[in-house]
Amino acid sequence: STAEARVLRVDDLQVRFGGIAALSGVSFTVEAGTVHALIGPNGAGKSTCLNVLGGAYRATSGSVHYGDTELTTLPAHRIADLGVARTFQNLSLSLEATVEDNLLVGRHRIMRAGTSSQALRLPRARKEERTERATVRRIATLLGIDGLLDRSVHTLSYGDRKRVEMGRALAAEPTLLLLDEPVAGMTHGESMAMADTIRAVQQELGLSILLVEHDMPFVMGLAERVTVLDFGKRIAEGSPQDVQRDPEVLRAYLGT
Ligand code: ADP
Ligand code: MG
Repeated sequence: STAEARVLRVDDLQVRFGGIAALSGVSFTVEAGTVHALIGPNGAGKSTCLNVLGGAYRATSGSVHYGDTELTTLPAHRIADLGVARTFQNLSLSLEATVEDNLLVGRHRIMRAGTSSQALRLPRARKEERTERATVRRIATLLGIDGLLDRSVHTLSYGDRKRVEMGRALAAEPTLLLLDEPVAGMTHGESMAMADTIRAVQQELGLSILLVEHDMPFVMGLAERVTVLDFGKRIAEGSPQDVQRDPEVLRAYLGT
């Protein structure tokens, strides 16, 4: 892909649900081609933020720009067409289908344009199917699940399912990947392996990654920059080393 990652700029974002302010004026910038972490205790507003970026939730006010394009007024499929893909905190895979078929689902955004003509030209359709399978295999190799392509998802470990979920998002060739709690429920060993994978994905594909995480140690060795939310507000931002020492961050995490 020749598409380039752009800067993501979140400016004074507010989201209210009835009387609850899930986000109260949050701003941060994800530089192109970096790994940026959005962390904070449960209920801080992290998932809400991803939901606005992906178009699932509407912002009450504020703006989000991906490059020159304002996202908050666009429907989810238009945001996906701009190269923004996401995973979910709770997996959204087809459990009976194979890993390969789950990854091919992620190709639909790319393939949509060409489908009608393919039906009339079988040799070309077969060639394109081979290309699609090769693309999916390359992504699976990057994620270390290429040996599992023929397996049904329900036979996989939880950690491998998380990789399939990430692979399906990557199959759409995003320039910005949004990951919601990529290591939730994983063992320490699995988390560290996932950090290596996320770093490899960023370096190999050159995209930007915004990851939401509850687990602070996990993001420390991985993210170049960290934004910390608490009760819908940004309480700190900086390098992992800086935010780790910030008294307000320690207070939010330790509840003291
Ligand atoms: P986090 O992902 O950091 O744990 P969330 O973004 O899920 O936090 O939630 C932030 C706040 O917004 C919480 O108080 C939560 O109950 C509320 N919230 C999130 N989504 C909705 C929704 N769809 N309807 C009502 N309240 C919501
Ligand atoms: Mg969440």
